[in-house]
Amino acid sequence: MAKLRIRIFPDPDLRVKADKVRSVGPAERELLADMALAMYLSQGVGLAATQVGVSRSLIVIDVGQGLLKLINPVIIKKEGFQFLDEGCLSVPGECIRIKRAKTVTVNFINENGELSRIKGEGLLARAIQHEIDHLSGKLIIDHLNPIRKLLKKAKGCRRI
Ligand code: ZN
Repeated sequence: MAKLRIRIFPDPDLRVKADKVRSVGPAERELLADMALAMYLSQGVGLAATQVGVSRSLIVIDVGQGLLKLINPVIIKKEGFQFLDEGCLSVPGECIRIKRAKTVTVNFINENGELSRIKGEGLLARAIQHEIDHLSGKLIIDHLNPIRKLLKKAKGCRRI
């Protein structure tokens, strides 16, 4: 069983803005491992610490290219656009078409405390942008405009 409980909208924890992580040690590595477990058990492709009630800037992602653990992720470059349906572990049943950058370059700290950089495209870029939204308290439903709110409802999209 996962030790962490994924918060479900409208849980106020999902609206809390994450603080930067100041140092990386065993507690942070254990939290990242627990977050990865919770993500896999829920069959998601990404999870932010704010989704498990921890207001710290940590995310895990696995879009099928291996597990990524990002601490203090910051997008430094966005290129292109993609429009795809997106779900969220914290907003069950919703599937919302969201415009995202096609490619993002991200600076982050890895679990050894080292400054790192990754460039992701496609689903990986989308997952990174989705999880970084979570760290600022933003959810997929916030991307809806009033007209699309009426037209939404789709089935079977990836839950990030
Ligand atoms: Zn989400």
